[in-house]
Amino acid sequence: MTSKGILFVMSGASGVGKGSIHREVLARVPDIKLSISATTRPRRSGEVDGRDYFFISPSEFETKIKNNEFLEYAQVYSNMYGTLKSEVVHTLHSGYDVLLEIDIQGARQVREKMPQGVFIFIQPPSLGALVERIHGRGLDSQQSIQDRLDACHAEMSMARYYDYVVINDRLEDAIKKVEAIIIAERCRVKYY
Ligand code: 5GP
Repeated sequence: MTSKGILFVMSGASGVGKGSIHREVLARVPDIKLSISATTRPRRSGEVDGRDYFFISPSEFETKIKNNEFLEYAQVYSNMYGTLKSEVVHTLHSGYDVLLEIDIQGARQVREKMPQGVFIFIQPPSLGALVERIHGRGLDSQQSIQDRLDACHAEMSMARYYDYVVINDRLEDAIKKVEAIIIAERCRVKYY
């Protein structure tokens, strides 16, 4: 544990496996805590209020925005999600590291407010190889190639806002890489 914790922000496109990675990383790495987000999304079965999320109503969420209680917030699909400043600040000051697992819009907001954080971009496995494959195959229509390349490019271009990129090709490898990033960051001279 360092005297003041390090903020780690893990983000990436929806469905890229961030959830599976963060759960396993938290189980393996000591002295790091997940920041519990507030959301207006209905609770899924098996989820516990205060453990998985703080499940709140849209009007409660609105009040928290007005009271400036969020470090960041974003609409993801049709629900609101937000990181509570209180969660992050309190944990960092108690010397623990904090992990945020949030969407891309949220990570951008945190980067602006807390640039000292460590930003990890989780990338889906297909993107890197996609360009080569599409060109190599030579079968797709020009439009469909372009659409895919645009999507690929938009995704890749997000990576420049981050400090690290982890390709979630094999889950175990991705977990190990995130673990390694956390351990390496803790060894930085500036924390000693
Ligand atoms: P789910 O509803 O499946 O738990 O999460 C949906 C998406 O919301 C995921 O991409 C997750 O990373 C993102 N998310 C969860 N909490 C937050 C948060 O506090 N802020 C932002 N911006 N996104 C979040």
